[in-house]
Amino acid sequence: MAEIAVIGAGMAGIGAALALQARGHEVLVLDRLWPGEGTSHGNAGLIQAEAAEPYAMPRAPAQLFAIATGRTNDVVWHPRSLPGELPVLWSYFRRSAPKRHAAISEVYRQLTGRAVADHAPVIAEAGAEALIRRTGFGEVAETGAALEATAREAERMRDRHGIASRVAGGTELRAEDPAFREGLAGAVIWRDSWSTTDPGALTAAYARLFKARGGRVARVGVTGIVPDRAGWSVATETGLVEAAQVVLAAGPWSAQLLKPLGYRIPMLLKRGYHGHFRMEGELSRPYFLTGHGVVVASMARGLRITTGAELTGQEARRDLRQLVRGEAAARAVLPLGEAVPDSIWHGHRPCLPDMIPLVGPAPRHDGLWFDFGHGHHGLTLGPTTGILLAEMMEGRDDALARALSPRCR
Ligand SMILES: Cc1cc2nc3c(=O)[nH]c(=O)nc-3n(C[C@H](O)[C@H](O)[C@H](O)COP(=O)(O)OP(=O)(O)OC[C@H]3O[C@@H](n4cnc5c(N)ncnc54)[C@H](O)[C@@H]3O)c2cc1C
Repeated sequence: MAEIAVIGAGMAGIGAALALQARGHEVLVLDRLWPGEGTSHGNAGLIQAEAAEPYAMPRAPAQLFAIATGRTNDVVWHPRSLPGELPVLWSYFRRSAPKRHAAISEVYRQLTGRAVADHAPVIAEAGAEALIRRTGFGEVAETGAALEATAREAERMRDRHGIASRVAGGTELRAEDPAFREGLAGAVIWRDSWSTTDPGALTAAYARLFKARGGRVARVGVTGIVPDRAGWSVATETGLVEAAQVVLAAGPWSAQLLKPLGYRIPMLLKRGYHGHFRMEGELSRPYFLTGHGVVVASMARGLRITTGAELTGQEARRDLRQLVRGEAAARAVLPLGEAVPDSIWHGHRPCLPDMIPLVGPAPRHDGLWFDFGHGHHGLTLGPTTGILLAEMMEGRDDALARALSPRCR
């Protein structure tokens, strides 16, 4: 019998396990993969202090037209998956209206605003310094007009949320990152964001810390969660695990595990891809390539190109359109070599239509807790929501706790 079973060993589950352990709880983490091998492995590696506002759904007619007609690399969609996604997209669209998005951002910035500080002690205690860059996150603009627009947005973020940034002209950018070709207009650098050169390894390092402190991790698939007299029975491929309480942190698979308990979670899965390429030298920080919808970052396996959102079924076949376009855009500004063999990956950002993760008590079951739906920022937010969840399990019930608490039936 475990006191608390955490399902999912991604950044969210490991973040929760560490926070609960730090408060004296006995925790068992269950995952069919090794820690950090799920979505937490494949992302762009950003710990995004600048992300005070979650990604809203575009609402301007020109942006919607560009998406509908396939003219942007930020988002692509498939007619066959659209009917199933329409209700959640509609809900996302409504909540992306400026007033509602501003209210949501007031909550969101309380999370991302402390994310770097919540990672810091874990990085130190896990001995993971070598995986971390504290050099910010850049947005490269090819033209003067694009740089001006990006700088204007940075000013707005400074005025509204106090987010620090600076503008680097083309020459300054090349002085910091000589790999970029000459002639680019420059970049906006978000100063306080961090990044990792291997997000999967970072999650695994946090999991090793958890184990070194006496935590248990079992590599096993979970097939169901059933309430029983002592608390919960977690059905696994190798038998039942009894636990007084269960934390569900299974990322994009969470909604599926909750269906038998009667929960219908309106989750939008935004698929993203990465591919690795050889490149002479390294970038000092990750960069978003403005106008091309991809992030480029020097990582353990080479230059990782990470794509934007593809709206498609979780099991749908790969469509490498965004990665192919992203590669072309990266080649135009960086000296990319050949692709690293077998380095293409895809995963899903587990997004809620109101853009805020579900963290807190299950609405209809005592002893069951949610910690999923981190969308675009789960690597950033895992330790933060883990701490908040642990506090909520001990009775925290303030405005932030209520805003995060599961909003589903
Ligand atoms: C392309 C892309 C780029 C991204 N870039 C960034 C970024 O730069 N910065 C950032 O902060 N976020 C980023 N994200 C988002 C981030 O990766 C996710 O929000 C985060 O990894 C989610 O963490 P998690 O622990 O909830 O999920 P996961 O890491 O997926 O962990 C869930 C775990 O649950 C396990 N599991 C599921 N079902 C079962 C079962 N039945 N039995 C046993 N185990 C199970 C899985 O094996 C998995 O290990 C990106 C996402 C994508 C797709």
